[in-house]
Amino acid sequence: MIFYLTNFLIGACLASHACLIYDRFDTGGVVFARSECRNCHYQLSILDEIPILSYILLHGRCRYCAEAIPYQLLQFEFLGGLSFMPIDFSTPNGMAYTIFIFFLLLISIFDYHEGEFPTFLLFPLLLIVPYADLTAISLINLLPIAALLGYFILKNQLGTGDLIVYLFFCLYLGATRANIALLLACLFAIGNYFLSQKQEAQIYFLPYIMLGFAIVNIF
Ligand SMILES: [Zn+2]
Repeated sequence: MIFYLTNFLIGACLASHACLIYDRFDTGGVVFARSECRNCHYQLSILDEIPILSYILLHGRCRYCAEAIPYQLLQFEFLGGLSFMPIDFSTPNGMAYTIFIFFLLLISIFDYHEGEFPTFLLFPLLLIVPYADLTAISLINLLPIAALLGYFILKNQLGTGDLIVYLFFCLYLGATRANIALLLACLFAIGNYFLSQKQEAQIYFLPYIMLGFAIVNIF
């Protein structure tokens, strides 16, 4: 229980940093930079940077200028927390999984905001390959779904990134569990479509796939 809770907090911190990297992507200086308010550029203190908790305590507003903090930050911190919950950070494969999940989060954040992501972010995902259980990748489970995603890509209803990320999930989870993650992602996307006030014409799918992955990965 403590293990899950600690991992959730570490994951939320990592996701918070991934959001910071996205914000500073064009200006650089992302690795050691302290966070600042997007509006007033006041440098945030440690107390303002506790993932999830700070957002709740500050009622989603900057302590200094009261500008609303994007609620997507909270969503991605929560997603990061869930994604890292079952990871054992102390083992070599745990480190590979950590880098794998971190870059997937970053890709999801880019996809959510821009509808695309820089291709080079895919390369760190290859770290997962030596740890993949190839016996768990049943082609009978993988090929129909991959073909279906390919069909939607040809019709321009999905990005190539969705297919590539699905294939990486097959390496990590095996094809059956990756399919369950994808099914959950579809349900979340449909649920969100009907629940949200403003229904956007195009739904960026990667954050949903990431959420499906996080849940399947826990169980
Ligand atoms: Zn501010």
